[in-house]
Amino acid sequence: MEASNRPEDLKKHFYLDCGFATRALHAGEHVGQPHFTNHTNAIFQTSTFTFETAKDGADLFAARKEGFVYTRMGNPTVLVLEAKLAALEGCAYKLAHPEKTVSCIAFSSGMAAISSTMMAILRPGDTLIAGEVLYGATEDFFRTVLQPLGIRWVPVETSNLELLEAALRQHDRVRAVYFETPTNPLMGITDIQALSTLVRSIRPDCHIVVDNTFATPFLQRPLELGADVVLHSTTKYIGGHGTVIGGAVIMVDEEVRTHLYHMMKDFGGCPSPFDAWLVNAGLKTLPLRMREHCANAQRIAEFLEQHPKVDRVFYPGLPSFPQHDMAKKQMSGFGGILSFEIKGGYAAAEKVMNSVRLFTLAVSLGCVDSLIQHPASMTHAMIPRGERERIGISEGLVRLSVGAEDVNDLLGDLESALGNA
Ligand code: PLP
Repeated sequence: MEASNRPEDLKKHFYLDCGFATRALHAGEHVGQPHFTNHTNAIFQTSTFTFETAKDGADLFAARKEGFVYTRMGNPTVLVLEAKLAALEGCAYKLAHPEKTVSCIAFSSGMAAISSTMMAILRPGDTLIAGEVLYGATEDFFRTVLQPLGIRWVPVETSNLELLEAALRQHDRVRAVYFETPTNPLMGITDIQALSTLVRSIRPDCHIVVDNTFATPFLQRPLELGADVVLHSTTKYIGGHGTVIGGAVIMVDEEVRTHLYHMMKDFGGCPSPFDAWLVNAGLKTLPLRMREHCANAQRIAEFLEQHPKVDRVFYPGLPSFPQHDMAKKQMSGFGGILSFEIKGGYAAAEKVMNSVRLFTLAVSLGCVDSLIQHPASMTHAMIPRGERERIGISEGLVRLSVGAEDVNDLLGDLESALGNA
């Protein structure tokens, strides 16, 4: 969705003068849709759109007229989701930079969003500096797809600005710095504002790309802190109910948007209208869900930190977490994901995973209900073992996605599962 700068459009699409929860409910609703008396958005479950006349069709193809042609190139249900996400990630940015256009393109998965974005930005001979700890498939994409295409992939601990500066100065044609904050699964924090200032001072033409899946725009908005591209796996908190695979990219650079639109159209990673509708429906309750996720995760992190069978807890909300202050500076809450290292390595982790009753043993995260998984053998298994251990993903590491159940029930479940370990 691309919002115009007309004040009436900004009000209608972005709800710029409203708070986050109001925008989550109202921004983007019915944008681009004929509005009958339906209260919620219609699902335009159609692959193609009809033309009134042959000339009408020719005008749409020649971009002499705006409208819908074919769902891979745009669909009213998808447009609603794109408008809402642009409003949630980009509202304050838009107020500070009224001349800029914040836009969003939705995808069929988080990986479609990530791969299309990097293909839109990078060319053979370019350098990509990327965070050292990333979602496994993202790292796999950099290693097995981008590298063979002649793109230099340089993993760096992006929270360490000295290391980042050295990499920025050492390599030619650095076109993108890509990172997650918090990282999956160790919850490492990168100072987005400090990183952006540094990168822009050395490489003004470099894109700063943040995977904001863990934090969501409710807790952290990278565009306000200097990034220019924000990615989501909407499969997670944005959709929130574990019913959809989806992705989205929110950006402020018109050229990136043009290239990315071609990637979406030509690689074909568009979302289905029904999936976009489900994600949009989930997104409306993001603020309510995130408040519960944060409160429950904090209680669980504090409980695990005191537990004799737990060696270490990785949760930015704990004052003992090394980057707690940095997280506090750029996030309005610490999220619902945490990892902990259990004494006794894999055998003990396996016992806990097989003993829990309320936590569901499954990968993914950000559902309203709680999930548990083992990064070394599941989500991050594709990272070579030596590399995995070097970055801290040990055999005893267990990741929790803390849901919105009654927290005492979750604590009881973990207490008894740890008793079996
Ligand atoms: N980014 C992060 C941080 C993730 O955790 C994931 C998946 O777990 C992805 C991206 C990929 O998203 P998807 O599974 O929707 O393709």
